[in-house]
Amino acid sequence: MAMTDFDFMLTEEQIELRNLFRDFAQKEVKEPCRESEKLGECPEYLVKKAIDMGVPMMTLPEEYGGLGLDYLTCAIIREELARGDVGFASRVTGFGFTPFRLAGTEEQRHMAAEAMTAGGVIAFALTESGAGSNAVDMATTARKDGDGYIINGGKTFITNGDCADIVVTFAVTDKSKGSKGITAFMIPKGTPGFDAGHHEDKMGFRNVHTCSLFFDDMRLPDKYRLGEEGEGFSIAMRILNVSRPANSANCVGLAQAALDEAVAYSKQRVVGGQPICKKGVIAAMLADMEMQVQSARQMVWAVCRAANAGIFDKKLTAVAKCFCSDAAMKVTTDAVQIFGGNGYSKEYPVEKLMRDAKIFQIFEGTNQIQRDIIGRQLVK
Ligand SMILES: Cc1cc2nc3c(=O)[nH]c(=O)nc-3n(C[C@H](O)[C@H](O)[C@H](O)COP(=O)(O)OP(=O)(O)OC[C@H]3O[C@@H](n4cnc5c(N)ncnc54)[C@H](O)[C@@H]3O)c2cc1C
Repeated sequence: MAMTDFDFMLTEEQIELRNLFRDFAQKEVKEPCRESEKLGECPEYLVKKAIDMGVPMMTLPEEYGGLGLDYLTCAIIREELARGDVGFASRVTGFGFTPFRLAGTEEQRHMAAEAMTAGGVIAFALTESGAGSNAVDMATTARKDGDGYIINGGKTFITNGDCADIVVTFAVTDKSKGSKGITAFMIPKGTPGFDAGHHEDKMGFRNVHTCSLFFDDMRLPDKYRLGEEGEGFSIAMRILNVSRPANSANCVGLAQAALDEAVAYSKQRVVGGQPICKKGVIAAMLADMEMQVQSARQMVWAVCRAANAGIFDKKLTAVAKCFCSDAAMKVTTDAVQIFGGNGYSKEYPVEKLMRDAKIFQIFEGTNQIQRDIIGRQLVK
């Protein structure tokens, strides 16, 4: 593949991996996932192929047997997977090693590494029906019981909730302490008292399951507590700070997919004797879409480079999350517009991209919450 755009900023290895995953996503993932999303079931053979390609191990450090890829390389791979199908990208990457890197003991890290090496994914379960944007309002409790905890309650809208090998979750251990009374836990698959409900019938993002989780007198030994008692809320916020650039990369892939479709369609759709790409207004829309995609990509690369240097700036990750998801929404919506009536039809690929984009403005902290974070940081 020829060098394009900002390739000069990447290493040879990053370009090779990008091309490998671009090929896989475009030739093998895209079309089957367009079909499977109708049923909300990701093709298992594709999940297996991604596992064979090492996707679940990309965030796992080499010392734990993983690929130990840096943040930027992981983002480049995520972008390509998402350009094929963004639900699939989330199904096969999960939350990665971050919770264990940030808060895990050696034993917990080895457990996560074992699960990830076997192709398993890690889910992150914070949201409850009564506690979304304000997670501190959570009602799930963890009561100390000998050398462990008894957990009761549940979580809603958990990505990969039913197929994750380990779920990282949060419960109140001391209600009187507010955010300092929340504790983080890891739940290995098959723990008695843990159950996942049916998966949501969603608008988009349908190649990955989103489920409710139920904790019914679920007993977890102390060794499954992540961090100290009361550190859970801070751990959750730090995990989100690291995962937001990853989802921003998903948004870039999604937006690029919409731009690809819009460019191709505009060259072949003839109206009034000429392809619509020759019409100035359409060309200007395409140009705006390209500007959004390029800007979003550079923002992801910048926050990933900062992360590689150990800098996780709350304001900048919120800027990236908010900008990239707004860009994905705008670009996919404009792609539908460029397709005209066909854009609104399921016969054509862009309505799916628009449906897929919407969730990125909602989860991992809504864009209203991101703007709140950015605004507060600015005037601090
Ligand atoms: C497909 C999908 C996958 C998800 N995956 C996960 C997952 O893996 N793990 C997980 O823990 N959660 C997950 N979620 C949950 C998601 O993070 C929450 O839905 C989101 O944080 C918003 O919470 P809420 O739905 O309760 O909305 P609410 O908090 O009820 O918000 C409703 C509206 O009010 C606005 N609002 C709320 N508070 C403020 C404020 N202070 N200032 C300004 N506006 C405000 C919001 O922006 C929103 O527009 C997922 C959700 C979906 C739909």
